[in-house]
Amino acid sequence: LAGRPQMPGLLRAAATEAAPAPAEETFTYQAEVDRLMDIIVNSLYSNREVFLRELVSNASDALDKARFLSVTDPSVMAGREELEIRISADKDKGTLTIEDSGIGMSREQLLSNLGTIARSGTRKFMEAMAAKGDSNLIGQFGVGFYSAFLVSDRVRVQSKNPEDPKQWVWEAAAGSHQYTIREDTASDLVRGTRITLFLKEDAAEMADPVRITRLIKQYSQFIAFPIKVYSPKK
Ligand code: ADP
Ligand code: MG
Repeated sequence: LAGRPQMPGLLRAAATEAAPAPAEETFTYQAEVDRLMDIIVNSLYSNREVFLRELVSNASDALDKARFLSVTDPSVMAGREELEIRISADKDKGTLTIEDSGIGMSREQLLSNLGTIARSGTRKFMEAMAAKGDSNLIGQFGVGFYSAFLVSDRVRVQSKNPEDPKQWVWEAAAGSHQYTIREDTASDLVRGTRITLFLKEDAAEMADPVRITRLIKQYSQFIAFPIKVYSPKK
């Protein structure tokens, strides 16, 4: 062994290679989530713009939670004092991004909130949808997040919760039974959630800031936090 020729060149090459990407884990939705997504996609096709109301309402709930927790624990606000929603529409990329500086989700919370349905109301919701197919039932029964797939081929959720030292990414494709979670090396959110919608070709018009602003005025006028709409500078 002592006489074996060394290969310093090779060793050096290995050492300078980028650090390996953090492990990505794949999970399967609870069966109820699959059924729910089928119902949403089949019942709401002609009412697809409800997705924005649902995502804005989730952002608002998360901002409420951050504000509430900060009353007893001011450190919740550390590094990010603003409580706001920022929406950015990028027509060239075909993406719509909804970002809030709310409470965010830890890895455990991403797993339990976006992948299972804990609520007992879900069965009732599904029966009501089967009978009536009324889009307002979605908000009423609290199954809003999955409506993102009405307009998206793929949805990415980046999130940072003050109690979890790491930022995480949840990602799923429309029509898939699975989603992935991995550590987010971007690590750029001080607190909160950024949801990126990779829009379906036939929903490309949702990347228009004028359209988005109109929908916000129409459906989200009572949200108690500032909603700022951006598009990339040309
Ligand atoms: P609901 O809002 O009725 O609970 P949703 O399907 O809209 O149902 O959202 C599921 C859950 O995912 C929420 O209860 C919340 O815990 C979590 N969630 C969704 N969006 C966000 C967000 N922007 N920030 C923090 N948590 C979120
Ligand atoms: Mg909701």
